[in-house]
Amino acid sequence: MLSTGKENYLDTDPVKIRSILTSNDAESQKIRHNAIQLIMEAMQDSANREITTVDDLKCLPISLWILRRFDESILTARVINHSRDLLEQFLSSQKILPEYVSDYGRIYGVAAEYDELRALFKMSIGQFVAYSSRLSGYRYRLVYQSVKRGFVYCDREVAVKIIREAFVRRVFSIFEKLPEDESYTVTAPLGDRVDDLYETFLRSGIKHSIDLGDVDATLFPPCIKEYISQMRDGVNLPHMARFTLVSFLHKVGMDSKGIIELFKTAPDFNEKMTTYQVNHVTGEISSTEYSPPKCSVLRSNHLCYWGDDPLCHREWLRHPMQYYTYKKRKKSGELPLNKLKKG
Ligand code: SF4
Repeated sequence: MLSTGKENYLDTDPVKIRSILTSNDAESQKIRHNAIQLIMEAMQDSANREITTVDDLKCLPISLWILRRFDESILTARVINHSRDLLEQFLSSQKILPEYVSDYGRIYGVAAEYDELRALFKMSIGQFVAYSSRLSGYRYRLVYQSVKRGFVYCDREVAVKIIREAFVRRVFSIFEKLPEDESYTVTAPLGDRVDDLYETFLRSGIKHSIDLGDVDATLFPPCIKEYISQMRDGVNLPHMARFTLVSFLHKVGMDSKGIIELFKTAPDFNEKMTTYQVNHVTGEISSTEYSPPKCSVLRSNHLCYWGDDPLCHREWLRHPMQYYTYKKRKKSGELPLNKLKKG
């Protein structure tokens, strides 16, 4: 069933979010499921989607908290753009009264009143220009609109495009204000589902938000440093440590040749076998590009060497890649000051 307007899907209040995440009623369970599904579908860019109506966007605030935790801007943009398209599709439907289009405009900060006599939407020139700037196509330029006494009169298609742009801007602005540290506490009731989702992202081939630049071994997490040091000391690494090392080095940008060179220090080095294993893990001779395991998996296999490393002991640190990405960002000055103090 379609919504009838006046819905605000952007309430990210942590108390309300936690209540949905911990409640057992059917509606809350559906919202939780949709929050994960919305991100999954944006990742897979699949044509067969479960999240297809604007009503499904009740899950968007939870998805935003999860995305804040991931901090992957390309994925965030995909989710927000998909949500934008659902809103546009909904507001464009002739089943929706023009008054409801105006209601949605108000929610996202656009005063677009419906003028029944003209059968057009009326909005200020300032708002029209502010939100139309990112729309491509001559139809959305001011010069093609009917302008009278400081107001633009536009048809439904144009008005809906303006409202959807206001929606995008509002969602991004809400997202940017969500504190990353709090995102771990807020989404904690989702448990492993969030970690599994991030694993899927790492395997998806979607580009990471930041270019990790040159490989900087001084920023490797303790586990990776330990594997390298053990190998150099003549220790035969267990299979999982080798797998972690190869997949980690590949993800941070080392090429296969460099990884194989590193393995030459191993006591049981066999060039043919190592080349095969490296090419398999990096996806060169298999259909899968593998990711390193999560910290919890390494820990349960006695392969975590966190010692008293402060970053490893942060509540949100779940993955060796997170460790490296964080250190890289910190070094490049990309992290905001509040994070720099804590790392
Ligand atoms: S906490 Fe994670 S990143 Fe740190 S040493 Fe353990 S496995 Fe490696």
